[in-house]
Order: sequence, then C-alpha cells, then structure tokens
Amino acid sequence: MPGIRGRPGSPRPDFGLPKGLPASDAGQRQLLERLGRVATKLGTRAFLVGGPVRDLLLGRASPDLDVAVEASSREFGKVVALELGGRFLFHSRFLTGTVTLPDSSHIDITRTRTESYTRPAVLPRVRPAHIRQDLFRRDFTMNAMALELAPRSFGRIIDPCNGQIDLSRRIVRVLHDRSFVDDPTRIFRCVRFAVRFGFEIEERTLRLMREAVALRYASLLTPERALWELRLTCAEPLVLQMVEALVKENVLQSTWEWTPPESLLPGLARLVQSRAAPDLIFLFLLSTLPVTDRFPVRREERDAADALNAFGATRARLARACKPGAVYRLLHPIPEPALKILAALEPVRVSRHIKDQLRVFSHTRPELTGRDLRALGVEPGPRYRAILERLLYARLDGRVRSREDELRLCRRMLGAGKR
Ligand code: ATP
Repeated sequence: MPGIRGRPGSPRPDFGLPKGLPASDAGQRQLLERLGRVATKLGTRAFLVGGPVRDLLLGRASPDLDVAVEASSREFGKVVALELGGRFLFHSRFLTGTVTLPDSSHIDITRTRTESYTRPAVLPRVRPAHIRQDLFRRDFTMNAMALELAPRSFGRIIDPCNGQIDLSRRIVRVLHDRSFVDDPTRIFRCVRFAVRFGFEIEERTLRLMREAVALRYASLLTPERALWELRLTCAEPLVLQMVEALVKENVLQSTWEWTPPESLLPGLARLVQSRAAPDLIFLFLLSTLPVTDRFPVRREERDAADALNAFGATRARLARACKPGAVYRLLHPIPEPALKILAALEPVRVSRHIKDQLRVFSHTRPELTGRDLRALGVEPGPRYRAILERLLYARLDGRVRSREDELRLCRRMLGAGKR
C-alpha cells in the first residue's frame, strides 16, 4: 500500500530541493513581494506558511496562499485588499481573515501564534507568538516551514523542524510525541499526505499514529471535525488509496466504531473509475457509516444515504421491470445523487435502467398542463394530478406520442369517469 510503511527517520543531509523561491511563476513572485512590502510598511513581518511552502518546494501547484503576519493581521488584510482591489473578511475571534481577489482566488491571513492543548482532541488555546513558535504548533515537518516575504530577506526559508530534509527523503513526520493525541485529525492528515505525495510515514510517527488509533482518540473529535476530514479525503484524486489505507490502519473503524462492509472498496473503486464527483463519493462512504440523528450532515445527504441503504428491496423488482413506466415508478422516489451512485455500482441490467431514468425518464413530462385540463372542463383538484400522472406513464411507455394522443387519452379517461 502506498505511503503506509514505517521508514527510519534519522536526518540525512540530502537536499534535492530548490532552496528559496523558484523564479518560475513571475506573477506569484510579484504578488508575494508586494505582500512583504505591505507588511514592512505596517512595521511587521509577513511569511508564506505551511502547505504552500511545501508545495513550492515540491514543485507542485498550491491551491491556496497562506500568509502569516507577526502583528496587525487586520490592518495587513485591509491594505492588501485595497492595493489588489479585493475584498477582506476578518474573524476577530481568531485574528484570521481572507482576502478575495478579483479573479476569485484567496489569500488566507493569520496572526502567528502558539497553541496549547488542555485535553485530547479539543480545540487548542491560542496565544500570539513569533514565527518560529508558530511553526512548532504545526502538524508535520513538511508543513512547518515559512518563506520570508520581507524585501530584505525575501525567499529565505525558515525551517526549524528540518522539513526540507524530510521532504527530500519523502517522509511524513510529526513534530512531537503527543501530536496525534492533541489533535487526532492529524491521523487523517498523515494518511492523506503520505498517500497524496507517495511518501512513507516515518517509523516513530507511524508507531505514534497506531497508538492513537488503538486508543481511539479520533472518537473524541466532534462529529463535525471527523466528518470534515472524510470530506477532504473524498476530494482527493487518490481517494481510493487513501480510504484503503485508512481502513487498513483501522482509522475509520476507531473513529466511528464501524466495520467496513465488504462492498466498500470495490464500490469505491467503481465510483472512482466512473469519475464520480467528491460529493457522491462522500455520500457513498456516508451510507456505510453508522449515521445517527445527531450526525452533522445535511438533510439531502442523509436522505441519499438512506436511499442507498434501502435500495436492496428495489433492485430485484427493477431487474424484472420491462416498461419505462415501471422503471420510473420504482426510481422516481430515489434522490438523484443516490441514483448517480447506483448507476456506477449496480450490475448492467439494473444500471441500464438507472441511467435511462437519469437521462430520459426523469425529464419526461406530458405535453398537456393543468390549463389544458381546465379547458377540457375538469374541475381543479386532486384529479389533475392523477390525470397528469397517467398521461406521464402513457408517454413513458410510448402509448402516446403527441399532444393529440394525450388529448384523446384524456377525453377517454374523462368519458370513463362520467360513466
Ligand atoms: P492542503 O494541500 O491539503 O490544503 P495544507 O497543508 O495547506 O494542505 P491546510 O488544512 O490548508 O493544509 O492547513 C494549512 C497549514 O496549517 C498546514 O500546512 C499546517 O501547517 C497547519 N495545519 C493545518 N491543520 C493542522 C492541524 N490539525 N494541526 C497542526 N497544524 C495544522
């Protein structure tokens, strides 16, 4: 399995990585230089921190720009937004904010800080601090680096935990022994980074992770935080390998007291193969979890997961269904996201019907409307719905093909009703 193997982690000076900021992306470099100048004018220092620094050193595109400043995060955000023509949203409680630029990209701004944990798995107490201390609160050495943005020292990397060495050795390593206990979301993150980058988990880190899993620390997380990690996993291109690793390492089992169904990995593989969107992959996983009333998911997500679990009763009848109307009747109550998942998972005989339902049947409507029924002299009321439904089934099954056919059928129904 990719990534999940312990690797001895003694540091070895093996720098296969560019030092400092590569000049490849001139636009990004200019932007970062500008941020550095703004901070200097405000009398503080700004740094690119965490994931973007890691990605820069790995030569990978980074979706976000995370900037930390040592003071005045609110003023910094305001001036940046003003200079770049963006909008700034500040959360005073966390001293963090986001600048949204005219091209919709974001710059996330934080105040450098330290964190202390009073109990396992709860959110930490936060205190302002300098950049080096800020780096020591982070999850893995590869994410504990900062790149200076101040004009005089632009591009210098601050790397107190030897993140560059670990990147070049391709290992994921925690900063201290209590890391997974303090914050068990790091268990998910550890697996995610190892698989995403094809890295191995350093030996001690793997042992600590397994101990935290065995003691079920992730079950202490709020359901929101645990489920958020699963959502993030579902958005990864290597989601199958990640879930495989999470199951092999008992992470999911220990978070939710859950036994993976045998169909989990084959189903997931089929969904990935059919290029299912992250939200569908999440729904599929959700349907296998012990979802309770207090589970923090949206109503539609819960309904779709329930529909997936209840599909067994429909499957056999669907396999026997010959007419489109019968297919429609069986599948109409099932939410569309669940149908999309089932279309990828079910055997051909059943899946064919589901695809027809998604592509054709669910969009089929009779041509006549309530107004036509009124013109035919039908009193408004529940009868309308019954008539329109019969017209729909007639159309689905090809018994009517035009407006005239529908009118004829309608008159027949009305005539029969009078008799
Ligand atoms: P991704 O590419 O998945 O966005 P990222 O490293 O940018 O990776 P984020 O969740 O955006 O991940 O976090 C940004 C940074 O914040 C991380 O690089 C890390 O330094 C720090 N961080 C995030 N989550 C934690 C955590 N649970 N514990 C400690 N540090 C964290």
